[in-house]
Amino acid sequence: MSAGPGNDECPFCRIAGGGTDTKFLFSDADVMAFRDRNPHAPVHILIVPRRHIRSINDIKETDQALLGKMIGVAKDMAVREGIMTSGYKLLFNVEKGGGQVVFHLHLHLMGGWKK
Ligand code: AMP
Ligand code: ZN
Repeated sequence: MSAGPGNDECPFCRIAGGGTDTKFLFSDADVMAFRDRNPHAPVHILIVPRRHIRSINDIKETDQALLGKMIGVAKDMAVREGIMTSGYKLLFNVEKGGGQVVFHLHLHLMGGWKK
């Protein structure tokens, strides 16, 4: 069973609900950004909608503004982390075969490697 909206079983819904000590790098009514707890790059930040959406497969036409906002927040985080010019990756893992482990939509921002 997939976790439903606001479900305590969903780690990112718990973070959205304020039930953890996660430090937000960005937070508003729609989107939050925080560091990945198991980073795969010198800079590894997750950009996450507050609303529970299982994966990219579940997005609707009405979510387009939200997705655009997530990408904009990712770019702002890249600027703040000083990796805008050096470059970075933006990644959605989609479902198990695509490497998704947490089934609450999130965008990975990764960068900061030495050249
Ligand atoms: P994915 O494989 O795309 O589902 O990525 C999930 C990511 O979430 C992994 O890189 C985890 O390290 C990260 N993660 C899981 N729980 C937390 C948490 N509570 N705080 C920060 N990062 C988390
Ligand atoms: Zn969730």
